[in-house]
Amino acid sequence: MVDINWEELGFSYIKTPLRYLSYWKDGEWDEGVLTEDNQLHISEGSPAIHYGQQCFEGLKAYRCKDGSINLFRVDQNAKRINTSARRLMMPEIPEEKFIEAVKQVVLANHEYVPPYGSGGTLYLRPLLIGVGDSIGVSPAKEYIFTCFCMPVGPYFKGGMKPTNFIVSDYDRAAPVGTGAVKVGGNYASSLLPGSEAKERSYSDCIYLDPQTHTKIEEVGSANFFGITKDMKFITPISPSILPSITKYSLLYLAKERLGLEAIEGDVKLSELDQFSEAGACGTAAVISPIGGIQFDDTFHVFYSEEEVGPITQKLYAELTGIQFGDVEAPEGWITNLSINK
Ligand SMILES: *Cc1c(COP(=O)(O)O)cnc(C)c1O
Repeated sequence: MVDINWEELGFSYIKTPLRYLSYWKDGEWDEGVLTEDNQLHISEGSPAIHYGQQCFEGLKAYRCKDGSINLFRVDQNAKRINTSARRLMMPEIPEEKFIEAVKQVVLANHEYVPPYGSGGTLYLRPLLIGVGDSIGVSPAKEYIFTCFCMPVGPYFKGGMKPTNFIVSDYDRAAPVGTGAVKVGGNYASSLLPGSEAKERSYSDCIYLDPQTHTKIEEVGSANFFGITKDMKFITPISPSILPSITKYSLLYLAKERLGLEAIEGDVKLSELDQFSEAGACGTAAVISPIGGIQFDDTFHVFYSEEEVGPITQKLYAELTGIQFGDVEAPEGWITNLSINK
């Protein structure tokens, strides 16, 4: 048994025994291996560290009641990393290779998947970086695809609670930039706005559409959704939002399981009054209810600063029930791995 206090887990780096590593050179990927070494040995000329030629994914493995392990919509992560790769001129990773890497890492570190009922999960971080001797501004000639994992605690210890957000004066992404792909550069530019928001005691900032600054885009590392007073699930639509797999899952569940009208549409700051609930959603954030949003001199409260709204609660129960194997999943959403001890 591994020596981890599951109750005390947060979201921080923990070195687990094995990670997957594969190298791309001369037009092809090698077989890939599991390795104990958690240091990457790369050229000082690597385009990833000079020009940000890198992209990543984030997904979780969930311990079920019967001890088996679920992956949630891993095929969608496999597709999305390739959308990111194409945008930054990196070689694609065959979907089967990506999924195989994730499975191998989960199985090799299965003792680190937190127990059912602890609220914890095994967080997986696939990463694609441009490496090799280089210095001019052009795509790398060699690439590393790696995937490592670590156990993480529940996002909210002691239950879901609403938190407050502030609208940022900065943009996260350009209108036709890289907002829709999962690249580190978007995050580097969000560090300052995020830290300013946290200094003022907000959970994080909310970014507006970079073209007109009148509509909510997203929350930096999570997408935004709102429930209107007339029971519509609305999540912003924009070419500079990162297409969250959690968001698309909630769009489906809101419609098919909760019977709401579920749409992607504009969420104008001037029309926040139409919403009775709001939240942020993503793999890490799961569903984080939004208490209120500060913008200019206004503080807009949705449902309550203390309590979670009923629709948000239902969506949370449905989503996490599916992920942990307690609620029947839509076709193809779950990959179940059993462990042979
Ligand atoms: C990864 C990410 C999300 C959440 O996407 P999921 O697929 O739901 O985990 C949202 N916004 C940004 C900017 C992201 O990078």
